[in-house]
Amino acid sequence: QSYKSVALIVGVTGIVGSSLAETLQYPDTPGGPWKVYGVARRPHPTWLAKTHVEYIQCDVSNTEETKSKISPLTDITHIFYVSWMGNEDCSMNAVMFQNILSSVIPNARNLQHICLQTGTKHYIGLFETDTSDTHDSPYTEDLPRLKQPNFYHNLEDILYEETGKNGLTWSVHRPALIFGFSPCSLMNIVSTLSVYAAICKHENKPLVYPGTKASWHCFVDSADAELVAEHQIWAAVDPKAKNQVFNCTNGDLFKWKHIWKVLADQFGLEMVGYIEGNEQVSMAELMKDKDSVWDEIVKTNGLMPTKLKDIAAFWFADIAFQCENVLSSMHKNRVHGFFGFRNTTTSFISCIHKMRAYKFIP
Ligand code: NAD
Repeated sequence: QSYKSVALIVGVTGIVGSSLAETLQYPDTPGGPWKVYGVARRPHPTWLAKTHVEYIQCDVSNTEETKSKISPLTDITHIFYVSWMGNEDCSMNAVMFQNILSSVIPNARNLQHICLQTGTKHYIGLFETDTSDTHDSPYTEDLPRLKQPNFYHNLEDILYEETGKNGLTWSVHRPALIFGFSPCSLMNIVSTLSVYAAICKHENKPLVYPGTKASWHCFVDSADAELVAEHQIWAAVDPKAKNQVFNCTNGDLFKWKHIWKVLADQFGLEMVGYIEGNEQVSMAELMKDKDSVWDEIVKTNGLMPTKLKDIAAFWFADIAFQCENVLSSMHKNRVHGFFGFRNTTTSFISCIHKMRAYKFIP
């Protein structure tokens, strides 16, 4: 088969990486037909084998390994960088991205465009740092960088320098909270909440909301992983999107109190919402001894084997359930010609259905 474009997805087992792998193989995807290389740390997962990805297991924080495995891929035309090391260390996250660019740029003579995924932390700061220095929402792409260190700044600086020197185009994508189906993501809120619900069900307990009052009542925005994939593919091929930063959200809003009801219905649970006067209870704390419970759920339901720490990130739910008014504007996208959208409730349900179809959750 002859291909029009050749993608390198860095982080192909992740929440957006897996949706990119799926979307790029459709015959009508812009820029196609696409040949797809996918890089991730672990061995090729069986669930990803359904997509036509040429899989490369590589630790991209290792400079020598990255050079030896990635520099021979001389036909790459587009890079989709949808990875992070799992912590917010500025220099190590920068090394990972630099290793990829240093391995591809000198060798892939038809390389055209690099998509870099960052996120809303650009506006609110990192999880681990002082949250008093943040922007007021709704966030627009032209807001200045916060003063605190942020690995997103390091990644952007590498992107601007490398594309500038080498005559390449770029785009930066800042998705909101992502709804996706990957069981290998370091931050998948839908799998995390589904696993929490499955454990409540297994233990015959109601689905209790552990978050803050403000997070229960406020508006939140999210980005469906498929939509984020479409957004990046649009920017990779459309001349109107070149050399720009774009937010990415579904275009609607939701409240946890509404999604909580949907989650309870999906798992046949009694729902207990925020109780007036309650402080936030840490889900990470609540779930800290549940590894064997999850193993039991996996076994009795004949699920694909996963470990609790891999499929659920309760620390991430704790952060989501204390956020308030984290909302991004999609205006710039419209001006530049991106009109994609999703219904957030439908997106949430379809992620659950997809994880069930893959036997990741009961
Ligand atoms: P993810 O955690 O879902 O996936 C990470 C991918 O990178 C996996 O495929 C993993 O195997 C791979 N990876 C990690 N370290 C690697 C290494 N050393 N070598 C090779 N591969 C490695 O990723 P994500 O959540 O899409 O995160 C990407 C960016 O998006 C991050 O900057 C994150 O902050 C941002 N973001 C995430 C969310 C969310 O809800 N998950 C929302 C907004 C922004």
